[in-house]
Amino acid sequence: MTTETTFASLALAEPIMRAIADAGYTTPTPIQAQAIPQVLAGGDLLAAAQTGTGKTAGFTLPILHHLSTQAAQSKPGRPRCLILVPTRELAAQVEESVKTYGKYLSLTSMVMFGGVNINPQFKALKSRVDILVATPGRLLDHMGQKTVDLSGVEILVLDEADRMLDMGFIRDIKKVLAVLPKQRQNLLFSATFSDEIRTLANSLLHNPKSVEVARRNTTVEVIEQSMHRVPQAHKRDLLAHLIKHHNWQQVLVFTRTKHGANKLAEKLIKDGITAAAIHGNKSQSARTKALASFKDGGVRVLVATDIAARGIDIDQLPQVVNFELPNVPEDYVHRIGRTGRAGTTGSALSLVDDEELAYLRDIEKLIKRSIVRVEIEPGFVPPAKADLMSDERPPRPPQGRGGPRQGQGARSGQPGGRNGSGRAPQGKPASGGAKPAAGRGAAPNSPAQPRKPRPQAALFSSKPGTRGH
Ligand code: AMP
Repeated sequence: MTTETTFASLALAEPIMRAIADAGYTTPTPIQAQAIPQVLAGGDLLAAAQTGTGKTAGFTLPILHHLSTQAAQSKPGRPRCLILVPTRELAAQVEESVKTYGKYLSLTSMVMFGGVNINPQFKALKSRVDILVATPGRLLDHMGQKTVDLSGVEILVLDEADRMLDMGFIRDIKKVLAVLPKQRQNLLFSATFSDEIRTLANSLLHNPKSVEVARRNTTVEVIEQSMHRVPQAHKRDLLAHLIKHHNWQQVLVFTRTKHGANKLAEKLIKDGITAAAIHGNKSQSARTKALASFKDGGVRVLVATDIAARGIDIDQLPQVVNFELPNVPEDYVHRIGRTGRAGTTGSALSLVDDEELAYLRDIEKLIKRSIVRVEIEPGFVPPAKADLMSDERPPRPPQGRGGPRQGQGARSGQPGGRNGSGRAPQGKPASGGAKPAAGRGAAPNSPAQPRKPRPQAALFSSKPGTRGH
């Protein structure tokens, strides 16, 4: 942490300080040091921060402080704070943080998302709910059924706003905004700032303060990034080999498709490695169960698609594997951000087929560094052709950044598949040599190009606004 700020200097209520101490946090992360005073001051906030920076506590702690120190009449099903998030997993996680940091307060919270029985949510809304964490779709259902009353919202948080827009939630968000009281505090968190996000920020935020922490793609140095060049058809066998060879006990693996995630988990299980897959076709309870067993060590490997993995928060996850490179370079940064969190170190390994080299170039441009190419270690025997599963083939050739973005327009939070090229496996056989790792910059691509910084200033509107107390 580069900041000098201490939690004590942030003047948070004593029960919150106790909960922070229980969580083992000694120093605020940079986003917390910047955001907490701004949120406490009561104005709107625009925060550029990614998952893994401690942003959840950055907004949760001052919200808890405000709600616990500013009394207001609370009625059943009428939250004082609404936190909108893109995915169920993130919703569950944020609410868990609210409970963790608010455990010595008498505030109440509730999480609301789709894909699960709505009846327990109806029941919960019959009691007092101070903080509601929701995904937009299910919240709209409740609004339609008049089981939730948003007229008392004092603070609105849009968390991972960029993902919400990517997932096609803009109309839902607008419908929610339309019923909120005009006088309120708005906090918008986003990892990236597209024109769409800027438009949303302009219409939502009044004279916001802005905070920004170093983008993950400039701070990924704590994560050891490497890659193996390997034909797509050999990847499953190679991964099983690596897990056994290195005795990895907790590995998060990203695949590009749901089908690929299932197949890979099946293959690993067949090879005696405990594994589970999570993606949008799995029921919420299956996803929650898989995540829980991954967290407690019941399964060694969790195979996930990008959007299903969004929001997964596992402290000190040691190993991430990109089974396929994402076609959107920012997703690479999100993926490897699962490891090396809040200052811990981690390792991210990518398995790269020849056909993915254009993706690799885009990623290296974005992160402004080369990913170290490492020879496959001895002992790995590529599978015989006859042993390959029929679908073990390389992904379709990259179409550059203009290609379809996973999850775009999908309400379910599930990326659209891009498998199914129907082509036979290609590429050179994997090396079985014992050569030492190539040095940094050994990737077979052009040197990384600096990326233009994203303009931020245009994000701010000049309308006055406060929380209204
Ligand atoms: P987030 O970016 O909110 O997903 O948080 C990432 C991780 O950082 C979570 O596991 C938090 O428990 C952890 N964390 C948050 N704040 C701190 C802090 N001040 N010190 C250490 N860890 C923290």
